[in-house]
Amino acid sequence: MKITAITPPETYTDLKRCIECDHVYHRPILRAGEVAYCPRCRMKVAKGQDWSFARICCLACLMLCLMPLAWSLPLIQIRLLGMTISASMLAGVMQMVDGGDIVTAAMVCFCVIGTPLALVLSLIYLMIGKPLGMNLRPVLLVLDKLKEWIMFDIYLIGVIVAAIKVKDYADLFAGYGLLAFVTLTLFYILLIIHLDTESLWQKFYPQPRQALKPEDVECCVYCHYSGQSDARGRCPRCHIKINPRIPYSLQKSWAALISSIIFLFPANLLPISIIYLNGARQDDTIFSGIVSLASGNIPIAMVVFTASILVPVSKVIILLALLISIHLRCEQGLKTRVRLLRAVKWIGRWSMLDLFVISLMMSLVDRDQLLAFTMGPAALYFGSAVFLTILSVEWLDSRLLWDAHATGNAEYTD
Ligand SMILES: [Zn+2]
Ligand SMILES: [Zn+2]
Repeated sequence: MKITAITPPETYTDLKRCIECDHVYHRPILRAGEVAYCPRCRMKVAKGQDWSFARICCLACLMLCLMPLAWSLPLIQIRLLGMTISASMLAGVMQMVDGGDIVTAAMVCFCVIGTPLALVLSLIYLMIGKPLGMNLRPVLLVLDKLKEWIMFDIYLIGVIVAAIKVKDYADLFAGYGLLAFVTLTLFYILLIIHLDTESLWQKFYPQPRQALKPEDVECCVYCHYSGQSDARGRCPRCHIKINPRIPYSLQKSWAALISSIIFLFPANLLPISIIYLNGARQDDTIFSGIVSLASGNIPIAMVVFTASILVPVSKVIILLALLISIHLRCEQGLKTRVRLLRAVKWIGRWSMLDLFVISLMMSLVDRDQLLAFTMGPAALYFGSAVFLTILSVEWLDSRLLWDAHATGNAEYTD
């Protein structure tokens, strides 16, 4: 860690404002492999020289080549009633569309096909756009947002859960697509570790250093530039008007949270999956599905319970508590609240697991009246609730927690 305290009122040319707690610190000079943390909120604020952009682009091109294989080749295969049935990512999405639930299919498609493709194409656009003099700002602005919505890792766990679920009905084999998908997931994790949007901004839109007093340093909430706005009050780097906080953060966060709470009721009360076995129909809600899974495999039932019930419910309770604490200008337990906000940011996406399992199961188990698996009406409400809680966390400006904490002067100490 290379961070030193500043002593006002002198001016400095290397000041930055922390995007999480608004603290002003010296921009550290780091060697490769070194990481700097904010002295106030302990968030990672900078890291030393990392992979070159050329290497990141090579990885993106490799991912682009693997994507059609991972999406279209079978991930798992089963032998059922003398027939071999395959489940691929695209087939699962198409099965949902055929079942009439286009919105839920679009949600699954967005997380495992749309956003990964957009991320890879964005990086390739940056690579070819610079020499052609194209505007790279919109692409740089969406890079960080895309990273949060790509759910390859969760889909992979979904494949394992689906495999365990169908194991009772049929013989199970790994498909060729699984190898491509595991490789794609590993490449994606490597890319996320080494992709630093801040260094890309500095590479494509370098800004001159300004001598500023600490209180004059402004921070752009969109591209995270620290410095002074231009003559028109805009960020000199992304050209969006500089706002000290995310505009309408509390209103947007409340709206998304209240909608997600409303959606969680039908999501848990209506059936999420329907199984036809020899003509008999069996409806399963999220909870009854977990109970029947627990009779065969308790660890997997625990995973699904955590992802489908524990995470969404605790996330809603934590967000409610955080929002109310901001309104009440609560000063107690700031450290705990900051940690809780980081925890819900990290864990929220895992709730999509159940929808991924359903999409795989639908393409695997579809033998008309003998044995069929379809999605119940709760899936749409559940997916919407998960999307809305992710948005609610994204729209909640963490600096509001610090603002509410006295006048923002209180220190965060371990
Ligand atoms: Zn900070
Ligand atoms: Zn900006």
